Amino acid sequence: MKVLISAEQIETRIDALAREIAQVYQGQPVTIVGVLTGCIVFVADLIRRLDLPVRIALIHASSYRGDATSPGQLTISAESLPDVKGRHLLLIDDILDTAQTLSKLVAYLQSLQPASLRVAVLLRKIGRQQIPLEPDFCGFEIPDAFVVGYGLDFNDEYRHLPYIGVLPQHVPKG
Ligand code: 5GP
Ligand code: MG
Repeated sequence: MKVLISAEQIETRIDALAREIAQVYQGQPVTIVGVLTGCIVFVADLIRRLDLPVRIALIHASSYRGDATSPGQLTISAESLPDVKGRHLLLIDDILDTAQTLSKLVAYLQSLQPASLRVAVLLRKIGRQQIPLEPDFCGFEIPDAFVVGYGLDFNDEYRHLPYIGVLPQHVPKG
């Protein structure tokens, strides 16, 4: 496994990101909406560094993907979402790739009439976006490779790795 971003680099960046986020919200209560399953490690680490009153909600978005990242039909399961109307929402996902997933989640959450909606992603792939969507907070910009670890999976494996890695068969050539 090729390590792209080490556990130490992630830790340092998340410290800074938590400060950036707290700076923007200025003590206002925030409802974190994490996108399952990839967000779990990122959300867990970020919320423990956030100096803000927070509530945690989770939403499930699946696009019938197995090992690949080609976009498919997106299903949003939000049965367990608390009332978000009039609240400041921070939508958190693991990775911004084509932006198909996040753009649909943003539209869905906007329809619930929050007071505000911002987006935070741990990773953003350079040159892959098909839909314009500017995340308000981004951990790292990465090259176009299939990454795993720190919440991200390949066929539901590797989520537990403390670093972000590239699987050997997915290392871009050249
Ligand atoms: P998008 O809808 O932006 O194309 O893709 C977002 C979702 O695709 C992510 O939430 C993630 O589940 C999956 N995804 C995209 N790129 C990668 C990747 O490099 N590694 C993994 N493990 N998942 C990815
Ligand atoms: Mg995901």
